[in-house]
Amino acid sequence: MHFTSLLTASLLAINSSARPIADPIEMIRQAGPEAGKVITKCSAPGQIALAYDDGPYQYTQKLVDTLTAGGAKGTFFVTGTLYGCIYGQKAALQAAYAAGHQIASHSWSHPQNFGSLSTADLTSQMTRLETALVNIIGKKPTYMRPPYLATGGSVLSTMKTLGYRVITNDIDAGDWNNKSPQQSQQEFTRAGASGNGHIPLMHETYAGTVNTLTPWLINWAKTNNLKLVTVAECLGDPDGAYVNGTGNSQSSC
Ligand SMILES: [Zn+2]
Repeated sequence: MHFTSLLTASLLAINSSARPIADPIEMIRQAGPEAGKVITKCSAPGQIALAYDDGPYQYTQKLVDTLTAGGAKGTFFVTGTLYGCIYGQKAALQAAYAAGHQIASHSWSHPQNFGSLSTADLTSQMTRLETALVNIIGKKPTYMRPPYLATGGSVLSTMKTLGYRVITNDIDAGDWNNKSPQQSQQEFTRAGASGNGHIPLMHETYAGTVNTLTPWLINWAKTNNLKLVTVAECLGDPDGAYVNGTGNSQSSC
């Protein structure tokens, strides 16, 4: 039986009254961006979503404070173990969440072969981090950025199953590749401020990105009348960044 008609049949079975039912596909569709589809930039102009990978790390709290002081919201794609155990930065993550910055997933251990992992291993990479985030901020994220931006193999189908919106980028700050903050700034200047908002690839694990590039970007955005928003907000999904999840009693990695 076709999936849609099966679903319609089962909905009819549980909804035996005469009132008309909504389109079943519409009913099960997640609000906000579709899961398992690669998103590279915001869905509207006039905004920018500063997005930082690979933390939490020693600069997380500083970055939270800088963004908040600048009237900016940022997005943190965090891992469980890449720069030390996530529980070691519990307070900084809680501060980021409380200040309205977005916490999103960058996998548990940032495996180099993320794009060739099995569905089971990808699922475990995501669910381990979910459990830790429920323990730390009380929610599990619905947004993720794949390590190394790897979207091949079983990545997209698995993220679709798990309900993750897959974010990559439209500007590469190049901080991971030894670019100086000044060279990163040129990437933004070159890309310009028009068109749908940028979602840059940046890393909170470099002092230059936190201390130099971020204040410059906050200014650049203001000069260009861009609102500094989270990734979820810039995709028209301000309330969709998290869902409820199940934690456990763990507090170490
Ligand atoms: Zn990364």
